[in-house]
Amino acid sequence: MRIFAMALLLLMNSSFAGWVSSGGQLFKDAHNSWFIKNTKLIRYCIQYDASSFSMSEDRIHKIIKKAFNYWEKEFSKIEDENKVGRFILGGQKISQVTCSKNTDVAFKFGYGTLNKNEIDYLKNPIKYIGVSVRQSYDEENLKGKGFIYISSDQGPHKYQNNGNLIIRAWENEKILEYTLIHEIGHVFGFPHSGNGIMSENFLDQLLNKYLNPYFLNLEIEPFLIAKKQYFICDIPSKIKRQVFSMKSGERCILIKKKKSSNLFELYSMNEDKTSKRKIGEIVGINLNFNDSKSNPVSVLQLTSKQKIFTSKQTGFRSFMYGPFQQDEGYFASLMIDEKSKMESVYLKIRSDSFMMLGNLKNKIVPLLNYQSPLSQILQMDPTP
Ligand SMILES: [Zn+2]
Repeated sequence: MRIFAMALLLLMNSSFAGWVSSGGQLFKDAHNSWFIKNTKLIRYCIQYDASSFSMSEDRIHKIIKKAFNYWEKEFSKIEDENKVGRFILGGQKISQVTCSKNTDVAFKFGYGTLNKNEIDYLKNPIKYIGVSVRQSYDEENLKGKGFIYISSDQGPHKYQNNGNLIIRAWENEKILEYTLIHEIGHVFGFPHSGNGIMSENFLDQLLNKYLNPYFLNLEIEPFLIAKKQYFICDIPSKIKRQVFSMKSGERCILIKKKKSSNLFELYSMNEDKTSKRKIGEIVGINLNFNDSKSNPVSVLQLTSKQKIFTSKQTGFRSFMYGPFQQDEGYFASLMIDEKSKMESVYLKIRSDSFMMLGNLKNKIVPLLNYQSPLSQILQMDPTP
């Protein structure tokens, strides 16, 4: 009993009561998004330690906005999900303020921005490239507050590097943009998952000196919903001729979702994209409910004190699901202009891949296969 009381006292006295970081699981609601629909404005501030950070402050301002925009764009693609047990992310205005106790997210760039409490909590800040720490949570309004720390990349407190990481990572805007997208992702309630921008090793791979060059020219990919077009060049010649009736010299296929209609257009192209010829369409696209995975990537654990959702909205559950990551199968038909009959095909569409399976000489084979460059890089061996 006495030990219990002492432990409780210790916990109450601790300056970290309520703090959780990206990987923290002490509280059931640790991974909740810091902001849901009742929050209309996100106030962020910037603290900057010029001597230990290789990027200038005005460039940082621009990149923070880009990183927030990335997520806002992702959330805007989700069809309005006003269903029971579902919650909506995004829609907030973002506004930069001077740091105060009313700030929702404090961005801290470089070691010199950390106070003693924060250093004690992180124990050894140099072991992080970036980390998001929720310092308090309003259980009635389901709203979090905290900071995102981005490590120094120069000086005595620069991020730990066993020789495998690039030095002075923050000289490059793309690297900081990726890092902030990852950390803001945690703020919106996405835990580590999958093989993309929110994967557990993402930051280590991003800064890995062998893999880093691949990231620099990469288009920043969607996280939740698949792209609307794909450019695929890796197609066996047999399939090019027999399935798509492509001419010699035409090496690649562009698949493009037609706006506001349920079909994909197919174009045959050469590798440098200088010629483009429409060869057909994928039509009659029907979702296969048996092959539609529901992968919620953000879960909101409801606290007993919450005042935001009625039990009708929560479906009397103690948690709600946020956006799902697309992972669906579709039955469809392939119509190639130069052929007289349609072929049955099957589409497998995920947020990071697109595959069309079909019949070739009585065998089911992948006719088109797109894997996102990011997921391919993240599968590469970082220690050649
Ligand atoms: Zn993370």
